[in-house]
Amino acid sequence: MISKTLTKVFGSRNTRILKELSRIVAGINALEPQMQALSDTELAAKTAYFKDRIAGGETAEDILPEAFAVVREVSQRTLKMRHFDVQLMGGIVLHRGKIAEMRTGEGKTLVATLPVYVNALVGHRVHIVTVNDYLARRDAEWMGAIYGFLGISVGVVVPNQPREEKKQAYQCDVVYGTNNEFGFDYLRDNMAFTKEQRSQGPLTYAIVDEVDSILIDEARTPLIISGAAEDSTKLYRDVNRLIPRLKRQEVEDGPGDFSVDEKMRQVSLTDEGHDKAEQLLVNAGLLDPNSSLYDYSNIALLHHIHAGLRAHSLFNRDVDYIVKNDQIIIIDEFTGRMMAGRRWGDGLHQAVEAKEGVSIQRENQTLASITFQNYFRLYDRLAGMTGTADTEAEEFQQIYGLEVVVIPTHLPMIRDDLPDLVYRTAREKFTAIVEGILGCRSRKQPVLVGTASIETSEYLSRLLQKQRIPHQVLNAKHHEREAQIVAQAGRPGAVTIATNMAGRGTDIVLGGNLEMELADVEESSAKYQSLSDEWLERHNAVVAAGGLHVLSTERHESRRVDNQLRGRSGRQGDPGSSRFYLSLEDDLMRIFASEKVSSLMGKLGMEDGEAIEHSWVTKSIENAQRKVEGRNFDIRKQLLEFDDVANEQRKVVYEQRSELMDADDISAMIQNIRSATIRNVVESSVPPDTLEDQWDVEQLSRDFEHIFNLRLPVQKWLNEDKLNPEELLERMEQAVLGDYAERSAGKEDLFRQVEKSIMLMVLDSQWKDHLLNMDHLRQGIHLRGYAQKNPRQEYKRESFEMFSAMLERVRMEIIRALSWVKVELNEAREQLQPAKPQVEDRSVVYSHPQVEAIGGGTPQVARPTAGAAPQSRRSTVETFKRSGRKVGRNEPCPCGSGRKYKRCCGIAA
Ligand code: ADP
Repeated sequence: MISKTLTKVFGSRNTRILKELSRIVAGINALEPQMQALSDTELAAKTAYFKDRIAGGETAEDILPEAFAVVREVSQRTLKMRHFDVQLMGGIVLHRGKIAEMRTGEGKTLVATLPVYVNALVGHRVHIVTVNDYLARRDAEWMGAIYGFLGISVGVVVPNQPREEKKQAYQCDVVYGTNNEFGFDYLRDNMAFTKEQRSQGPLTYAIVDEVDSILIDEARTPLIISGAAEDSTKLYRDVNRLIPRLKRQEVEDGPGDFSVDEKMRQVSLTDEGHDKAEQLLVNAGLLDPNSSLYDYSNIALLHHIHAGLRAHSLFNRDVDYIVKNDQIIIIDEFTGRMMAGRRWGDGLHQAVEAKEGVSIQRENQTLASITFQNYFRLYDRLAGMTGTADTEAEEFQQIYGLEVVVIPTHLPMIRDDLPDLVYRTAREKFTAIVEGILGCRSRKQPVLVGTASIETSEYLSRLLQKQRIPHQVLNAKHHEREAQIVAQAGRPGAVTIATNMAGRGTDIVLGGNLEMELADVEESSAKYQSLSDEWLERHNAVVAAGGLHVLSTERHESRRVDNQLRGRSGRQGDPGSSRFYLSLEDDLMRIFASEKVSSLMGKLGMEDGEAIEHSWVTKSIENAQRKVEGRNFDIRKQLLEFDDVANEQRKVVYEQRSELMDADDISAMIQNIRSATIRNVVESSVPPDTLEDQWDVEQLSRDFEHIFNLRLPVQKWLNEDKLNPEELLERMEQAVLGDYAERSAGKEDLFRQVEKSIMLMVLDSQWKDHLLNMDHLRQGIHLRGYAQKNPRQEYKRESFEMFSAMLERVRMEIIRALSWVKVELNEAREQLQPAKPQVEDRSVVYSHPQVEAIGGGTPQVARPTAGAAPQSRRSTVETFKRSGRKVGRNEPCPCGSGRKYKRCCGIAA
């Protein structure tokens, strides 16, 4: 009450913003006569003129009014569309990195041209995010007329585009594409192995169309790039057969082919073993007789030998794992629990499978993934447009720091939103819906029927077929074709059934879309005239019949989705109406509003087929929706906290990768890592400030040999030179440095390259394993609620520890690989084989599980490389999997929230 009074006195924030915007718009309008007086050439020359002013120190804000005036004039000349004042307001809002709520049909496509121009002038590349590829192409081409006139380059990114083409598109001032494509390109760039393989460039400024769908409905949907690990089943089996022929060293420095370090769970080949392994591999036809196992190009083979040796000498059946149903099941070393479904990384699991003769499973591993939420938060500046954002303004503000500004419509909105009709049963409801549709047809009024699911669409379609009512059914599967159909959905008496997502972004024009009809017709022809006349007749008939009627078969969980549907009618001052049909059997009613409403129905003594229709009922339903919205927001906020952890880690790894790729010489970095590793290794056996009898010199020598491939006379140094720990450390470091210098002498350049690619390889492979582990952690973490622990805190703590451990392993593995690798001068640069992006190494699956509930259709799957092996379609990607006991949907959620599982963490399952 008080806030209402205050709003009256001071005006709401939105009104104040609009006032300020109107002043700027007045300034733009004042420039119009000046712009109109310019010739085409003079108008086009404005681009260079503005750029000069920017170079002279002016800002985007300074030139905005004049630049907007230029775009408006160019649009008028090229597209015959003059930006309305409200569109200018929307343009300013977008430029400022906010959300412009503009109703359907207000011309958001055109609005985007304004901030694009201003930003292109200051050199900020703009990504315009559309809901499907068809719209990306359409909008780029359509608005291309304006951009072309002004010398602004336009690119489109679509799936399966050749890399060069995509790179070029990303160089353009404005790039159109879908959220999926931008997101996947980001991930692909971060899997690249060289700078040249990257395409996207910096994420400066994005304008997201239908921003509520993407940042709220689909916020948590991850984009996932996964790949079946290379099929090396045969190699595992072949190598497995050779392993028993290698002999374990019984005593240190004694005879034997390999030594085992129980503590570190590692193995190393001795010189003898190395020769023998090479011989065995050559005999088996796995190694070229002229090459060595330590050659850079044979890293994978060496890896297999190591995995095989570890499987045979360090991992024991019924202790570390059991064999069951043709599978290796890990046993947790501390709890003794069977860890079904988990796998060891680094090829060890397959090596154990080979050893036990069970089927070797090809793993489908996540190589990279990111949610839309996290992807879009990467942009320096984010803006959005949609017809429906206001109801979720708080969420936009809290999570994305985005303010929503509600822009008034160009013409007053006169759509008649009728009160809901509530029936007792679904059967009665659908009977009434069919009658409602028949009513529209008898008036020649077009009707758009919205359903929440494909099932309902199909059910209704069958009902209409029985009544022989001609109609179209759309379910957001064929964007382009559906856009054509939707464009004609405004013809007299047309009946179009669509799930919420279908035909988005295409305007329903009363009487049908004339432009599309005239697309290929000569303007001066008689046909042109007659088509235009026919259209006018149709248009007038539809207007007389009340415009487009939107009929919805239910209310959705959020008011915003209802508003999206409703908003398709009543565009640009058109007449129109909307009505929602409900029954007490609908989910929303059953759960939230049924008692009140049904008792009222009882009191009224309603008959079969009768409906209750009252604004009071509509209000109580809206209240129920508000409750659901609030709760869904809470759930999204909680999930975000989980996501944030992974997100921070991804940023660290990607930044590191990026730095690596950009650097030509990383030897200083390597040197730091090496020193730190040496210190770690020495201090773990010879702690500083301790006496000699506390030292484990043998362990130290073994570790050094294992990691640095060096046998050092440590004991001798200690005996003869009486070194203290610090001196010992120095001496060992000298030895390692000396060895490295010797091995790289004369081929420094090649070594710099090898350092870089080994570092990338190690980082990628450890990161991949880490992703898998994080998945497992997430899956298990909700069970912690039982143990009176806060799962989020636990998750944060453990994932932090896991991440630190991973970084530690990365450092160690890099140094180890570099200490063992042998690089021959004659190895041409291109022969640095592993330096290929992972994306092309494997058959990769791109998946994006969309929200089925709102008719999102099937997950997108694309294969980027021509030569990739056929890949079965990955239909769903589970982000949360329960391990252990299955929690019932109606049981209290194990996270301890007090809510039912299905309404809490179970919502994601
Ligand atoms: P939205 O995305 O806001 O629903 P669109 O960008 O699809 O709207 O545009 C809706 C229709 O309005 C298009 O057919 C477009 O040609 C028309 N339109 C947009 N702006 C103008 C304008 N300033 N003058 C004339 N027609 C316009």
